[in-house]
Amino acid sequence: MFEKILIANRGEIALRIQRACRELGVKTVAVHSEADSDAKYVRLADESVCIGPASPTLSYLNIPAIISAAEVTDAEAIHPGYGFLSENADFAERVEQSGFVFVGPRPETIRLMGDKVNAKAAMKKAGVPLVPGSEGALPEDPVEIVKIARSVGYPVIIKAAGGGGGRGMRVVHTEAALLNAVTMTRAEAKAAFGQADVYLEKFLEDPRHVEVQVLSDEHGNSVHLGDRDCSMQRRHQKIIEEAPAPHISERVKARIYDRCMEACKRIRYRGAGTFEFLYQDGQFYFIEMNTRVQVEHPVSEMVTGVDIVQMQIRIAAGERMGLRQRDIVPRGHAIECRINAEDPYSFVPSPGRITFYHPPGGPGIRVDSHVYNNYVVPPNYDSLIGKLIAYGDTRDQAIARMRSALSEMVVDGIRTNLPLHRDLMVDARFMQGGSNIHYLEEKVGKHRKGEGA
Ligand code: ADP
Repeated sequence: MFEKILIANRGEIALRIQRACRELGVKTVAVHSEADSDAKYVRLADESVCIGPASPTLSYLNIPAIISAAEVTDAEAIHPGYGFLSENADFAERVEQSGFVFVGPRPETIRLMGDKVNAKAAMKKAGVPLVPGSEGALPEDPVEIVKIARSVGYPVIIKAAGGGGGRGMRVVHTEAALLNAVTMTRAEAKAAFGQADVYLEKFLEDPRHVEVQVLSDEHGNSVHLGDRDCSMQRRHQKIIEEAPAPHISERVKARIYDRCMEACKRIRYRGAGTFEFLYQDGQFYFIEMNTRVQVEHPVSEMVTGVDIVQMQIRIAAGERMGLRQRDIVPRGHAIECRINAEDPYSFVPSPGRITFYHPPGGPGIRVDSHVYNNYVVPPNYDSLIGKLIAYGDTRDQAIARMRSALSEMVVDGIRTNLPLHRDLMVDARFMQGGSNIHYLEEKVGKHRKGEGA
C-alpha cells in the first residue's frame, strides 16, 4: 500500500478520498486553490499545498503545479476524484511519466473512452448494444449526412465526439434543420473541446438513464456492483440517483452486466468505471463510459457494502481484488440527493456564506459533505455542497428515511435545492419509480408556470 497520496480535487470528493485514505492508513496531501485555503478537509490533511488562485485553470487544472506539489511532498500516487483532470489522458500520462501512480485507468484507456466515437466502436466489438446512429463520425459530404439521418429516422441528436458535462449536443426534428445543426455543433465542439468531430444518434424520447458500476484490477479480475438509475436530471445533469434501478427485470440486467464485464476484459480496464446507458422499451443503449469515480458512487456502496474509493486505491497499488462476483450480493435500496447551492427551480447558483448548517442523522442516513457553519461556498466551482444518502431495506423505506432526513437538514444563508428534493420525495411519479430523463424538467416547468399564475 502507498504511504502517501495526493488528492487533486476539492470539496466533498476531496474529503471522501481523504476518509478512504485514513481508513487504509495512508497519509494525504491536499492541494487547494486560494479560495479553499480555510476548508476543514485541507486542515485535516496531513499536508497541504496551495497550487494557485481561485480560477480552476490556474489551480485544479494546473498540471505542472499539481505534479510539483506531489514532488515536494513525496507523495506516491495522485487521486484525481471526478471532474477537473480526472478524465484528462494527458494528465494521467504526465503523472506516470513523473514517476507517480495515477489512481485510475491507463492513459490510453482514458483517451479511448474520452472520444465517444471510438468508445462506441470499442463497445460494439464487445457486443454492448448502442443507440442506433452513424457508424463513427459524420462525413463531410452533406448528401451522405442526409442519407444517414434518414436511415436512422427523426428525431436525431448530433453529439460532439469529445463532448462532456451535458454540453455539445443538439436535437434535430426535421431534415430542413439537419445540416445547419451539424455545422453549428461542429463549430461549438471545436471551440469547447478542441475537436470538431460530431456523430449522430437516434434521439430517444422516453428513456431512463441507467448505469453499471464496475471494478477491474491489473490482474484481469473484473466485477460489477450492479446498477444505478440517474434519470432525475436537470440540463442533462443528475440530481437524484438510486440503486438498484427500479422496475427492470433481473434477466435483462444480467445480460447487460455480462456485456460490461466482456468490455472490461477486452479493453483491459483498470480501476473503477461506469458504463452509462439509456434504457427504453426494455432495451439498453450504451451512451458513454466514465473512467473515474462518479458523484453517485455512494448508492452502490450502500447496497453492496463495497468501498469503491478504497478499491480504487488498492487497485492502483497493484493489489489483486479480493472480490468475486458471487460475493457481491446487493441488498436493500439507496437513494442520493445532490445538495446544490442553487435556486431550487431556476437552478441559478447561489454561492456565499452558510450562516447555519445542521446535517441530519438516524438509521440508514449518510451525509458526504465538506461544509460547516460559516463555510463560504466559493463562486468559482460547481454548486455541489454535499450529498445526502438514505438506505432502506426497501425503496419505500429509503424514501421515508430521506424525507425525514430532508426535514431535519438546515442550510441557512444561501439558497439550496433542498425544497426541490422535499417536493420530489412526495411526488407520485417519483414514488412509483422509473420515470424518464425528461420528467424533472417538465415538473419544474409546471412549477414555474404555477408561480407565474
Ligand atoms: P455527457 O458526456 O455530456 O454527459 P452523454 O452522452 O452521457 O453526454 O449524455 C448526457 C445526457 O444527454 C443523457 O443522460 C441523456 O439525458 C441525454 N442524451 C444523450 N444522448 C441521447 C439520445 N440519443 N437520446 C436522448 N437523450 C440523450
